[in-house]
Amino acid sequence: MSAPVLATSFLQSESFIYVLYIIAFALFIQGLRGLSGPTTAVRGNRIAAVGMAIAVVATLLNPGESNWGLIVMGVGLGVAVGVSAARQVKMTAMPQMVALFNGVGGGAVALISWVEFRSHGSTYGSHPIEVGGFVVHVGGPPAYVAIFSVFAAIVGSISFWGSNIAFGKLQEILPGRPITLGRAQQLVNLLLLTLAVAAGVALVAGTHSELLFIGMLIVAALLGNAVVLPIGGADMPVVISLLNAFTGLSAAATGMALNNPALIVAGMIVGASGSILTNLMAVAMNRSIPAIVAGGFGGGGAVQGASGAGAHDGTVRSTSAADAAIQLAYASRVVVVPGYGMAVAQAQHAVRELTKELEDRGVEVSYAIHPVAGRMPGHMNVLLAEADVPYDQLKEMDDANPEFARTDVSLVIGANDVTNPAAKNTPSSPIYGMPILEVADSRSVIVIKRSMNPGFAGIENELYFDPKTSMLFGDAKSAVSEITAELSAL
Ligand code: NDP
Repeated sequence: MSAPVLATSFLQSESFIYVLYIIAFALFIQGLRGLSGPTTAVRGNRIAAVGMAIAVVATLLNPGESNWGLIVMGVGLGVAVGVSAARQVKMTAMPQMVALFNGVGGGAVALISWVEFRSHGSTYGSHPIEVGGFVVHVGGPPAYVAIFSVFAAIVGSISFWGSNIAFGKLQEILPGRPITLGRAQQLVNLLLLTLAVAAGVALVAGTHSELLFIGMLIVAALLGNAVVLPIGGADMPVVISLLNAFTGLSAAATGMALNNPALIVAGMIVGASGSILTNLMAVAMNRSIPAIVAGGFGGGGAVQGASGAGAHDGTVRSTSAADAAIQLAYASRVVVVPGYGMAVAQAQHAVRELTKELEDRGVEVSYAIHPVAGRMPGHMNVLLAEADVPYDQLKEMDDANPEFARTDVSLVIGANDVTNPAAKNTPSSPIYGMPILEVADSRSVIVIKRSMNPGFAGIENELYFDPKTSMLFGDAKSAVSEITAELSAL
């Protein structure tokens, strides 16, 4: 055998391909470990990307691969769209981006299952028989291949369509409010689920009909729409995380059907981490996952007298940058409470400048981070890390809350719902029960935002009417920079 032939057969050998897969899995896990902290997150992402590149190469080394033209075209298209989208996306639009990418994953899984059905479908349902002590599958793949393919098709299709609706809502292409069929909704969902499962069972049992397979994909698509449309905008990031877990599970099922260990491991990692993240977000919002899926919260519209100060009996005290600067300069302890508005205004660097100025004056500064501040988990941590805020100054909610009582000024920058005392005091409030940052315990509060408009949950904030609160109306970045300028001039 010549050297090139030997080399090719070594590269395409099952053992070499499996070694590459094992290296890829090790890198995925190492990458995930990196994602546990802002300082190591970028490196973690790169490590996982290298792992994915190795897994792709290992899959392409399979001797069966022949459609090189199509493969190169697919990779080229994916790289072109993925790189330009990832470069252009704004941090605040990241949940939509995740929804789209997740949907594409679910759609790919459903299509692969369809292709699998076309190549094996007519032999689904063939039974294993015993010949001379050996089990032989007559005329078709083992039953588990059919079961996993059908499962992946249903879940992948739900995930694709559900993610697209989630994208549409967050991008405001679709209304953020719940769109429901009223009382019939649960019944319709149950009917669609039953139809999809029944079609799947018939296919696995040996009904050799491609039309039935397509019908099953369509019913699952309707189910994806029917489940996500009734969910309000405020719950959408949780839904995206849940759909992400679904996509992972469907990818793992496809891996079982195709006997591809890379898909199984990567799918299970996505499935497990998506489930954990969904649970963490639901707990932080004090919402149960079944309640979120049942829908109806967080329409993003104005509710409960959210229209402005006039709708409230109390009075609102507004302040100026100059007064805020004096208040901060004479404080001995200041806690910054960032929220979604800081992200929108991209005010993190200006905030860092302000806190440096305060520290130079001997003021003790820390940042209180609510787990669902912003629009995605870790949103504030990422922004503040980008502005080089020392990590030890960031306090998780449970550590920050007992400290507010000895805080002179809480500086709330574009945060709203996560500071709303209605979550504690008003049982009828939609956010009742959500743990909040207890800024009202501090001696005084300065809130920077543009207007009296509500936050994501669409409800008025009692904090703004508290006599110890003063409002500095304006864009977070300009307002913070003005305070810093006033402070330097003092
Ligand atoms: P909110 O959405 O409650 O409030 C943000 C505030 O920022 C608004 O009231 C807005 O007021 C203000 N704002 C917007 N743009 C600017 C700007 N340029 N300058 C200054 N202020 C601005 O944000 P929070 O971070 O307090 O709360 C997050 C919400 O998102 C919670 O309801 C949470 O449950 C929800 N959520 C978060 C998830 C996560 O993972 N982080 C997941 C799911 C939901 P104005 O228009 O007057 O300026």
